[in-house]
Amino acid sequence: MANEAKTLENGTLEVAMERAPIPGTSLQVSRVALGTWAIGGWMWGGSDEAESVRTIRGAIDHGINVIDTAPAYGFGRSEEVVGKVLAESGLRSRVLIATKTGLEWQGERVFRNASRARILREVDESLRRLRTDYIDIYQVHWPDPLITIEETAEAMRDLFEQGTIRAIGVSNFSVLQMEQFRRVAPLHVLQPPFNLFERGIETDILPYCHRNNIATFGYGALCRGLLSGRMRLDSEFEGDDLRRTDPKFQQPRFAQYLAAVERLDALAQRRFAKRVVHLAIRWMLDQGITTALWGARNPRQLLPVDEVSGWQLDASAMADVDCILHQTIENPIGPEFMAPPARSVAAQ
Ligand code: NAP
Repeated sequence: MANEAKTLENGTLEVAMERAPIPGTSLQVSRVALGTWAIGGWMWGGSDEAESVRTIRGAIDHGINVIDTAPAYGFGRSEEVVGKVLAESGLRSRVLIATKTGLEWQGERVFRNASRARILREVDESLRRLRTDYIDIYQVHWPDPLITIEETAEAMRDLFEQGTIRAIGVSNFSVLQMEQFRRVAPLHVLQPPFNLFERGIETDILPYCHRNNIATFGYGALCRGLLSGRMRLDSEFEGDDLRRTDPKFQQPRFAQYLAAVERLDALAQRRFAKRVVHLAIRWMLDQGITTALWGARNPRQLLPVDEVSGWQLDASAMADVDCILHQTIENPIGPEFMAPPARSVAAQ
């Protein structure tokens, strides 16, 4: 993992964003990526385009070189904004675009479709919205139970061999599904849910990726803002914001998660002179995740990014984190509520 530091004129040490390779490709990714789901607006109570533009430009200024988006984020909106910023600023060559395929929608109802026909149609639509002629990292958003993994993998392999995409990724796949996929196509990236409160991949998926040289992009790094330190018991969310139904944001769990955040913040301050937002990202990286996907919708939210490089959690801090989670969260719950249905369910 590359990591450079330089001393500024005032004597403070500025640590550059860490980078890591994606094995099997020539790509070098920053260890924090910008997630642009909220920039699409849908399920996040809307978005503001001028703020979105500033956020994307700000991310690049912080040394972030991966922007993660998807057609489903605002039904094309997020990809369009990313494409517009990169085209108008001339920054396309400095940025790796990670987008996705395999979701379809009717109105605002989203369901899975990872068929070959859907993937080949979607890639053209994404290229147009992103104003580019290649996608750096193309990821299957969710496995589709109605389509064989082999069909999905073959379509992705063809796009890779044509040079339309520079790396193949999957998201929300199990070890078994990755095994099936890899019999047909190379697999460079897995994008799973992962943060301090959502650790389901630790037992088998993360070790599998390490053993097989698959880079990991952990999504929901701040657990939808819960780990930012901004949330209070009376925090309210507007419109279609998913946190109005997210089980972690409902009582009595919400109070437990907030209690954990308060103790994690105290630990971060005492041990590292940092805050919970820094600790949450650093913890992910030190658990062996290649890149943390940090969702932001205004440039201020990215200010803490500069303080996640150049330090590490030691074994005793890791143990303290586990102890805090164990003592404060009585009834933990995962991110399963976000999974879109298969077409057969959506049709009912
Ligand atoms: P996240 O990174 O856990 O949280 C993002 C939200 O936290 C922001 O929209 C903002 O919400 C709040 N926030 C961020 N920085 C903050 C700061 N410094 N101070 C206060 N609040 C802050 O969640 P996410 O966006 O769900 O996940 C990150 C990315 O992962 C997504 O954007 C997307 O690219 C990807 N993702 C992929 C999948 C998949 O199935 N593959 C699923 C989910 C996410 P407010 O402004 O509303 O407070």
